[in-house]
Amino acid sequence: MRDFSNSKRAFAEADKYMPGGVNSPVRAFKNVGGDPLFIAKGKGAYIEDIDHNKYIDYVLSWGPLILGHADDKVVADLQDATTRGTSYGAPTELETELAEKIQAIVPSLEEMRMVSSGTEATMSAIRLARGVTKRDKIVKFIGNYHGHSDSLLVDAGSGMATFDINTSPGVPNALAYDTLTVAYNDVEGVKSLFKEHGKEIACVIVEPIAGNMGVIPGTQEFLQTLRDETTKSGSLLIFDEVMSGFRAAYHGAQSLYHIKPDLTTLGKVVGGGLPVGVFGGRRDLMENITPAGKIYHAGTLSGNPLAMTGGLSTLNQLSEDLYTKMTANTKRLMAGIKQAADDHGVPMTVHSVGTMWSYFFNAGPVNNFDDVKASDTAYFAKFFKQLLQQGIYTAPSQFETNFMSSKHTDVEIDKTIQAFNNAFDAVQ
Ligand code: PLP
Repeated sequence: MRDFSNSKRAFAEADKYMPGGVNSPVRAFKNVGGDPLFIAKGKGAYIEDIDHNKYIDYVLSWGPLILGHADDKVVADLQDATTRGTSYGAPTELETELAEKIQAIVPSLEEMRMVSSGTEATMSAIRLARGVTKRDKIVKFIGNYHGHSDSLLVDAGSGMATFDINTSPGVPNALAYDTLTVAYNDVEGVKSLFKEHGKEIACVIVEPIAGNMGVIPGTQEFLQTLRDETTKSGSLLIFDEVMSGFRAAYHGAQSLYHIKPDLTTLGKVVGGGLPVGVFGGRRDLMENITPAGKIYHAGTLSGNPLAMTGGLSTLNQLSEDLYTKMTANTKRLMAGIKQAADDHGVPMTVHSVGTMWSYFFNAGPVNNFDDVKASDTAYFAKFFKQLLQQGIYTAPSQFETNFMSSKHTDVEIDKTIQAFNNAFDAVQ
């Protein structure tokens, strides 16, 4: 058995100062009935906790670390950048360089704004949509998560799903009233909503590949329906690619479906482990943002030089070839995990798109939030803890996604498959 006593002590100390002992809820491991591990360091595919236990890490800071921990080039570029200062609150060429790079990879972002989190990106995108359409209602999908701004904390996934909260207390009723929700992948539901409310809807925001209820890909028909209905009704389509951007595919989920949204939000990988979010899209829409237009957006640390450096250093190392390799590695891991479940007679559904992957203790099919909720979360909790014992660090909730990095090789994948087999033996 691994010794977690230093982490346990650190958590008790943290709990004196922070609600639940953490700065983001799912980190607390509350739903899986354990104490969180406190991390001392990471390198490549591995992290080490403060009890000197080592793990193959598939959380990767909840997605950003596509090059693994402490990538040599990213660290060197950041060290170099810090010597010139940490923030100026004035334009730098780094912002343009990162914007150019992002546009080269995801061309639908004709113009964009840098922010400091995915939450800011989605919040700003819906304000822009409401401002240009002069409509208040927005549509989101049950189990999709777009950060913690008021309008979007309704029927949300991720921590909201993990802790079984439908709409957060504190969200004004008036705002919740303007957020219309539909089941994910429900084509008929979307059509009937637009029939009734089409002319009142400012935008539809969607994770084209949902990652906040485990990985659930949107169907082509579903996403095409969103494109068609928004165009017909004069509302805007926002693809929230905070997670799927630079993850589902090099050019994002939008490249897989050949659907061009009006606006896109990015986060996670785009900052390479530093706080960066991006919202952008059609130039005629983005030109309404202050000071070009009147729809307000600002940020003290928006475009911060260290954050831009983290993003640039990361994106400059990505390529189509790298995604081909990482996607193949993810598929191999999925096949091994599924085989392990089958060999142990445990009902399991595995999903992966590009470098995003998850497993559901559920015979499937898993196409929406209700399907995920039917998974065996009690088994998940026991299994998660066995994986930690086996040296595998995965997302501590059935409603979250795991990730692959460029540093996970055949060695780590084989070890992980073996660890899943051992964990099944131990749980049974
Ligand atoms: N949108 C999606 C799809 C996300 O997965 C997340 C975070 O997990 C967010 C928005 C919010 O991003 P952040 O946590 O950086 O505020």
